Amino acid sequence: MKTIIEPFKIKSVEPISFNTKEERFEILEKADYNPFQVKAGDVLIDLLTDSGTSAMSSNQWAGVMMGDESYAGSAGFFHFEKTVKDITGFPIVIPTHQGRAAEKILFSILGGKGKWFISNTLFDTTRANIEFSGAEGIDLLCEEGKHPSVPSAFKGNMDIEALKRVIGEKGAENIPMVIMTVTNNSGGGQPVSMQNIKEASAVCKEHRIPFFIDACRFAENSYFIKLREEGYADRSVPEIAAELFSYADGCTMSAKKDAFANIGGFLAMKDPELAAKCRNLLIITEGFTTYGGLAGRDLEAIAIGLKEVMDEHYLQYRIRSVEYLTNKLIAAGIPVMQPAGGHAVYIDAKAFLPHIPVDQYPGQALVCALYIEGGIRSVEIGSLMFGKYDANHQLKPAQMELIRLAIPRRVYTQSHIDYVAEIVINVFESKDSLRGLTITEETALLRHFTAKLKPVQ
Ligand SMILES: *Cc1c(COP(=O)(O)O)cnc(C)c1O
Repeated sequence: MKTIIEPFKIKSVEPISFNTKEERFEILEKADYNPFQVKAGDVLIDLLTDSGTSAMSSNQWAGVMMGDESYAGSAGFFHFEKTVKDITGFPIVIPTHQGRAAEKILFSILGGKGKWFISNTLFDTTRANIEFSGAEGIDLLCEEGKHPSVPSAFKGNMDIEALKRVIGEKGAENIPMVIMTVTNNSGGGQPVSMQNIKEASAVCKEHRIPFFIDACRFAENSYFIKLREEGYADRSVPEIAAELFSYADGCTMSAKKDAFANIGGFLAMKDPELAAKCRNLLIITEGFTTYGGLAGRDLEAIAIGLKEVMDEHYLQYRIRSVEYLTNKLIAAGIPVMQPAGGHAVYIDAKAFLPHIPVDQYPGQALVCALYIEGGIRSVEIGSLMFGKYDANHQLKPAQMELIRLAIPRRVYTQSHIDYVAEIVINVFESKDSLRGLTITEETALLRHFTAKLKPVQ
């Protein structure tokens, strides 16, 4: 069939409230040109994130009702633990309330001054937790990944030669961990190949450096491997996922992504000594080891979601629907990251708005324009999110100026997506009138959440 249908029926709906362009202009001004400060009720199509925004299935909601709220040893925990073990093969599973809680625990133990963590690309919360510990993060994205408009099958890959070089420069003893993010969220939702995971793992083994997977989108990445990597077309997604995890010593996970849950996460690993340290911190910060900051019902919903996400009808629809929006934008001449990523469409704001210099945040200018034009909320992934200052307070820009339209799982239909395409194309036609922004207030870490901005005069 040419038409790929949404592999679900809709049982419960949530109304969208409409507003006018004039109202949105005022709302955005009051929000200091930062859509993180806009109320969700003032948004028509919310593509801010795919995190925690999934529609849960009727099975998951039934699981919520089955949730066992015992403080210790709840039935939901054992269902959750068995599911994670079955998928990843890791013998130790530690629940946390989000992915970043898993990161905070891990990097509090392994981080500190003089340590370096290497990745294909660290996600923003991962980098922030590493830096908060006093350590530093190094992104070694492959060359293909740095060119948004040049298609390639596995643009999330790590540069293995650079990995070897950096280990030589910094010394293996100063590198507590290498982290592979699948798919590469900040680098365009691009997948990592099995070959690349295998090679990175082998380099780490040789130097006795633990190799972890940031597994937030393990199912989407596994499906890309099935579609694009030789030798995997006839393997099932659970088989591919099992192989992917088999090269690693552990993983961090946000259940708000590929587990269709509205909250949750976990740490899983092989090393019992590291796990003992993690559990000590978990009890102080998250809660007892069989709930880790979650309600029993959340554990149940996550366990069910983790199995549902590996369904190939779902993954086909998921990957295809992101590709559908990407292709519509490409057809209109809009500079987007190619090929389509797994969970989001990334627009190259530097190419979209070449008249706005990088230190006037072209990505944020575009994010604001999409909100005003159509009530669409997106997020800047560029120098507002990742830019740093040098000693003279000059902006050291990010590698790319992207904006991300993240597609919540199982939430929007094809006509919502057609509307999004229409709005982006409208903005593209009047792009020369858009202006850049300057920051009026910001915080030291994760500044994009709270920064206040104003248009350049
Ligand atoms: C979302 C995300 C995280 C953090 O997870 P939270 O549940 O939001 O704390 C870490 N890494 C990646 C790649 C993510 O996408």
